[in-house]
This record gives sequence, C-alpha cells and structure tokens, in this order.
Amino acid sequence: MEFEEAVEEILSSVDAEREEIEKKLKEFLDYGVPIEQAKNALIRKYGGGAREKKIKDIKPGDRNVITSAKILTIDEREVEVRGKTRKIYRGLLGDETGIIPFTAWKDFGLQKGDVVKIKGCSASEWQGQPRLSLSEWTIVEKVEYDIELIKMPPKRLNLIDVRANISNVEVRGKITSIERREVDVGGEKKTVYSGIMEDETARIRFTAWKDFELKEGDAIRIKGAYVRSWRGSPQIIFDENAEVEKIDEKIEYTPYTIPLYKVVERGGGLDLLIEGVILEVRRDSGIIFRCPHCNRRIKEGVCDEHGQVDGVPDLRIRALVDDGTGAVDVIFNRELTEKLLEKSMDDYLKMAEDAMDYGIVYADIVDKLLMHPVRVYGDSIQSDFIISIIAKDGEKIKPDVKKDAEELMIEIGG
Ligand SMILES: [Zn+2]
Repeated sequence: MEFEEAVEEILSSVDAEREEIEKKLKEFLDYGVPIEQAKNALIRKYGGGAREKKIKDIKPGDRNVITSAKILTIDEREVEVRGKTRKIYRGLLGDETGIIPFTAWKDFGLQKGDVVKIKGCSASEWQGQPRLSLSEWTIVEKVEYDIELIKMPPKRLNLIDVRANISNVEVRGKITSIERREVDVGGEKKTVYSGIMEDETARIRFTAWKDFELKEGDAIRIKGAYVRSWRGSPQIIFDENAEVEKIDEKIEYTPYTIPLYKVVERGGGLDLLIEGVILEVRRDSGIIFRCPHCNRRIKEGVCDEHGQVDGVPDLRIRALVDDGTGAVDVIFNRELTEKLLEKSMDDYLKMAEDAMDYGIVYADIVDKLLMHPVRVYGDSIQSDFIISIIAKDGEKIKPDVKKDAEELMIEIGG
C-alpha cells in the first residue's frame, strides 16, 4: 500500500514510466533506504519534479503541473462515475496572469480565498479552454502569502441587460433616489447606501457598501459591480473594490414597451412598461375579503393570524398577460380594476349580493377582459413560479386602427 502510494506520488510529479519507477523504488527499498527518502531521491533524479507554471501558461494536455493560485469559487456536487456516486469539487482559481476552472476529484478542504500550491495536477480541454484536474495523487498545500489576481476588464452592460449573479460589470446611470441605512452584518454595524438608478434602458435598485458620496441626480459610471437578485429583480451592488466616477452626461429613462421574454429572462424589474393579451383571469380575481388587522386575504371569514374577523371587501384582478414572446402575471389593485372594468367595487358588491354569488364578479371580469390586449406599467415582485407584476397603471388597448389599415394596404399592394 505504502509502496503504491509512493509510486503514484512520484509519477504525479515526474515524467517517467511506471514500470521504471517501480523498479527503481524497489531497488532503493531493498538497500534499506527509508521510503520517504527513496521517493524524494527519485523525484530529484527524474528532473526534480515538474516546472512551476503560471495560470496563463497552462495548456490542455499538460501533465504534472505545479502552480500557485488563489481559490476564487468552489462548490461541491455529486457525479456518477462507473455506476458509483462520488463527490467532486469544482470552481475557479487564479493568479496574477489568469483564471482557470478546476475540478478536484477529492476533498482537499479547499475554501474560497485560500492560496495554495498545487503539485501534480493536469489540464484537460473543456469547451475549448484548459481546465485543471486535481486527482487523488495531487498534492495541495496551503501557503501563507497572498496572490494578487489578474484584473479582467469589466463587462459593459446596459441596465436592461443586467442579470442576477454576474460579476465584474460596468454600468452607467443616473441616481434617482438614495438613502443611507445602518445594517447588521454578522454582529457588525455597517452603513450602506441604497436607492434606484436609471439609464436609457431601465431602472434598477442598487446598494453601495461604501460611501461614494453619491447624491440624487448624479450621473455615474461604476466599474467592477456585481449583480444579485433582490425580491425578484436584479440589483446592482458595488463596494470598495469598485471604481465609481461621476460623469458629465444627461441620462434619462423614458418607459418603452419591453418584450416579455426580456422581462422573464431578466427576472423582473422596476417601472416596466409591457403590452400583451390577457390569456387567463386567475381564479382569485374579483371580490376578496381582507383581515382588518393585517390586510391578509381571509378565507371563510378566518384570518390565518387573527382567527374569525369581519372581512373588509377588496377588488382585484390577477391575470396572465402574454405578448407572444413570454408571459407574466399582472396584479391590478382595486383602483385599476375599477378603471379597467368601468365599474366600481360598490356596484360589484351590490351585484353579488343581489345574485347571492360572488362568482358573478369573476364571470364579469372574464367577460370584459379575456383575450383583450392591455398595456401595463409596474414593478415585479418576488414570486415562485411566474414573474408577477404589480400594476401601477394599466389600460385596455384599442386595436391600432391606423397600423391595421397600413398593413392591409400593404397586403393588397397599396
Ligand atoms: Zn389578520
């Protein structure tokens, strides 16, 4: 067992035939040389091990590589290898020359931020790029020094193209609101500055973890920001690692109709203007009753929190809106529902009381809105299955007569 391990270790750091290494090692041991010493002697004999390489110099097919790097990301997953489940660790590591993905076939106890010396790994090709493979026989040692990472140029994006979970982005925009807050991060008080910024393509929330002395109306460029999801929408985050400069540009967001696939892809957003057809009126639309204490919807006069209560009536619509490229749920409050249906809640309450059936309200909504095109302006909220937009304004769209006429003219060759 010890012999085998020593052979593997030697092979992982020198370029030689297994048979030859086995033979030589056996000779040493027969002479009574302790195994550790024999091993080191053989590694020296066959070229002193591999050459240390910088990340940018690692090529697919390289074997017995030695490199020093910092672990940037690492996650654990289970894979099936020859019918057996085993754990592998994947991530990114980098040095001052580059960044490379890696797979570790053994738990080396690696953590994000660790700086390590890796001996005896190899590189394979994956999607045209080299990928480091740390095998059973690779030696990984944590070191005390730090490694300054290569600075990759940030990716420049318009705010509409910002997606959750991307890093190192460059955006520009105007601060439309900002507030200072104290937050508790692991027992430590920190000051954060959050608000809303906009460019010509979108409005988005941001949080700055450092005082960049930003104020409302400032036009800025941020390099090295990252993006996280916050209540269902992407949010720009930047800290002391980001570069923030004030710019002399006039920036303004004017809402324009955004195709729904873009809203879905992005995971929602603020102040979105969308258009589409109501393909379904959800069953919880119509007259509902809310708890007078917590405003939650109650069922059969009972609030989950407050028990038996006198429900307060409310009117709302939740509808599936589709524009042919994607679909979202839109929630219309009482005021907008009354506007869309051209009928007040009191009228609906009376109608339901006369019929002794609240279902009549739902039927009327379906009758008036199903298959109707609508235009909606609103903000997305966190939801599990489908993006939901709380309408801040909405209207039925009349078919565009002029456009239809033009299309007809083209069709008949006019
Ligand atoms: Zn309640």
